[in-house]
Parts: sequence; C-alpha cells; structure tokens
Amino acid sequence: MNYVSLKENSIHKIDNNERRIVAMNKYDYLVVGAGLFGATFAYEAKKKGKTCLVIDKRDHIAGNIYTKNVHGINVHEYGAHIFHTSDKKIWDYVNQFAEFNNYINAPIAAYHDETYNLPFNMNTFSRMWNIRTPEEAKAKIEEQRAEYVAEMKKKRGIPTDAEFEPQNLEEQALSLAGRDVYEKLIKGYTEKQWGRPCTELPAFIIKRLPFRFTYNNNYFNDRYQGIPEGGYTQIIEKMLAGIDVRTGEDFFKVVGRDEPTPKGNVGQAQAIAESESLAAEDFPDDELIINPHAGVLSDGTQILFDKILFTGQIDQYYDYQFGPLEYRSVRFETEELDTDNYQGNAVVNYTAKEVPFTRIIEHKHFEYGTQPTTIISREYSSEWTPGVEPYYPVNNDKNNVLYQQYEELASKEDDVIFGGRLGLYKYYDMDKDLMAALEVVEREL
Ligand code: UDP
Repeated sequence: MNYVSLKENSIHKIDNNERRIVAMNKYDYLVVGAGLFGATFAYEAKKKGKTCLVIDKRDHIAGNIYTKNVHGINVHEYGAHIFHTSDKKIWDYVNQFAEFNNYINAPIAAYHDETYNLPFNMNTFSRMWNIRTPEEAKAKIEEQRAEYVAEMKKKRGIPTDAEFEPQNLEEQALSLAGRDVYEKLIKGYTEKQWGRPCTELPAFIIKRLPFRFTYNNNYFNDRYQGIPEGGYTQIIEKMLAGIDVRTGEDFFKVVGRDEPTPKGNVGQAQAIAESESLAAEDFPDDELIINPHAGVLSDGTQILFDKILFTGQIDQYYDYQFGPLEYRSVRFETEELDTDNYQGNAVVNYTAKEVPFTRIIEHKHFEYGTQPTTIISREYSSEWTPGVEPYYPVNNDKNNVLYQQYEELASKEDDVIFGGRLGLYKYYDMDKDLMAALEVVEREL
C-alpha cells in the first residue's frame, strides 16, 4: 500500500488500487451550492482565513444567476436577473465584482392584441382607459375599487365604515387596482406563474409590483439598478477565486445519504475504507472513521469539514420528514433567431391565460447588444417535482407552517447553516439574498 501524507490540510493519499482514495482534504466549511449565497459566504470566509470547499450538483458555478455567453450575448440561463437594491452597502459590495450598466427594467405586458407598460403606471392607465391625467386615472380606479370593496363588505357582513382587509392576492389586487387591471394584467399571469387561483395566493407577491400615478415605467422602486456588463457568472468566478470548488457533486451522494438505508457520512467513509481494505490503524488520525463530518467526492477524494453551509432545499436536507415543501419550477425554451431585434424589449410578459408561457426574455437588450442575431427564452411555469430545478418557494400559509417545522430543526443545529432561496424558503431577490449571506457572515465568522 502506497501511503502518502499530503501537506497541511490534507491527510493521506492511497493509490495502490483501481478504486482509490486519491486525496483527503480538511476544510472549515463544506459549502453546498455555488450560487450567490454560497459564493458570498465562501469569499468572506476566505478573507477571514477559513477554508471552504464549495460543491454544486450542476456542472457550473453561479446557481440561478449563471449567464452564458452565446455569440456575444449573455444568456440568463435560469431566467432574467436584474440587480436592484436600495441599500448602498449591498450595491457597493456587488460592484466590487463587476461594472454595472444603467439598465432599467421596464417590461411590456401583452394581453391578446393589446400592449401595456408595466409596472402599473400612467402609461398603463392611459392605454387602458384612454385618459391622460392622474386625476382621471384615480377616478377610474376608485370607481372600480369602491364597487369591489362594497360588494365584499356586503358579502362578509363588514360594516361600511370599517376597513376592508384583503386576505389573498385577488382581494389585494382588486382592492388596489380595480377590475380592469386585475383581469387583463394580473390574473392570467399570476395563475400561470403560480399554478394556483389568485384566491389561494398570499397578497405579498403582488406587493412586489409597484403601482404609481406618474408616467414612469421603471419596474423597481429601488435606488440602484443594473446588469453586470459581461454577465453574472464572472461575479461568482471572482468570489470563488482561490477557493476549492467542485461542480457536478451532489451533496447527498458526497455524504452518503443517497443510499436506500442511509448510514450517513460515517457509513460512507467506512464503506470506502473497507472496500479499499483499509483498517482503522491505516489512518494516523481515526477522525475519518468516527467524524460524521466526512464525505467522498466522485473522484475518490475524501473530505472532512467542521461545518456545512447548505443552500439547497431544506426539506430535502431533512429527508422530507414533515412532508415536502412546494416550489415552482420554470422551463425555458431558448432559441437563437436570425433577426437583430425580436421584441424591442428585454422582457415581455404574456398576461392572457390562453398563452402557455408567462414571458419572453430577449437577452441582448439587458446589455444593449447590437449583435446581428438574437436569443430569446420563452418561460413556462410548472409545479416542482423531484428531478427538476426548484425556483420559487410557494410561500402560502400551508407551506410557511411546514417550513417552520424544518426551521425549528435547523435552529437546533450547531454545525449546519442554511442559506439562499431554497435553504431559507424565502422569495428573495438577489440583494436580499446577498444581505442574508452577509448577515450569516457577520454572525458566523
Ligand atoms: N405579476 C402580474 N403581472 C405581470 C407581472 C407580474 O400579475 O405582468 C405579478 C405576479 O403575481 C408575479 C408577481 O407580480 O408573481 C411578481 O412578479 P415579478 O415579475 O416581479 O417576479 P419574478 O418572477 O421576476 O421574481
């Protein structure tokens, strides 16, 4: 048996065998998921002298903000990502890693043969009702709103002078924007996006969408906004520079939890040791055998780690023991077209329920591209099932209650930290995700 001690954080190398343990590395943190949360944590951990191994089951880094350059166009492979924040600290932080352009998101809504500006603003109202002034728009909305609220109060037996409190997304939208806006621009889109009636969705989802009485098509209210020139992947590449990263590694396989009767990572380490005919005394430090913080990468490298930062699905981490949380997934139909400009805007939402996709993204417009061809992605929303990518947590009451059970288990962990949209089961934008990662950094490092 050829036994080699590697330097510092590596323990041994055994290469006498076909199936061999090629190396053994020890890390402070195993970071699961090379997306924005995991990469931010690893970057800050490295600055503080901690070692991380970052693994991701996909064959690339950057998670859902991954962009790929195709014929000069940065394609947002997992859907449009527009960075926006009101927090100067977060804006400065992300600007360390890329130069941001002055892109302002101003989506268009297509409803049958009608075209509207989003978010709901004077351009939208003027097109909808052929009016011009805020006063006219307010009067129109108030008329529809008042009619709806009166009807609901009657139905629920609420006194006319009492407040009407919207209970769900439909009620929120109708009492805020009136019937026309709801029917043409909200209902169809939202029900396609979430696969549930608007009456079963939380009102907060719609609060993301600004509503204003100026001719301002800026989708976001935030102070800072833009797209990193050259795409998002470079940001994560820079964050992960000098850090051990392994893509194509599924955490549950690495720690031996994909077995039908999972013995956990101790079992995995032992199984490998046995298959290599190694005895405990072959290891100068039998920590490997007894330490539950061990795993094996697909090339046979054994790893030891003190803590885990997990940015995958929290319910999967706990073997779905309270039942699965619901997520929405998205399927993208991407094609390159032989035209320099397909739809004249980066984002066009299709708000009618008869159109099967929710929106079409024309990627070049995020960076004002002038390439001779264009790349578009049609976005189809679907319920998440195992084997497809989860994108959006469905934060309705049922799931939030279920999540609390998982969160309670998580709060008892000394050496596992959860992060990101999937680990925290929160509909985070990038700035909120980054903020949450920096809060963990603050607490942990
Ligand atoms: N929404 C809508 N009509 C639209 C765009 C959005 O009703 O044309 C609603 C819908 O409920 C959606 C929510 O606003 O889920 C948030 O949309 P946004 O585009 O901000 O979400 P993203 O999918 O980009 O995170």
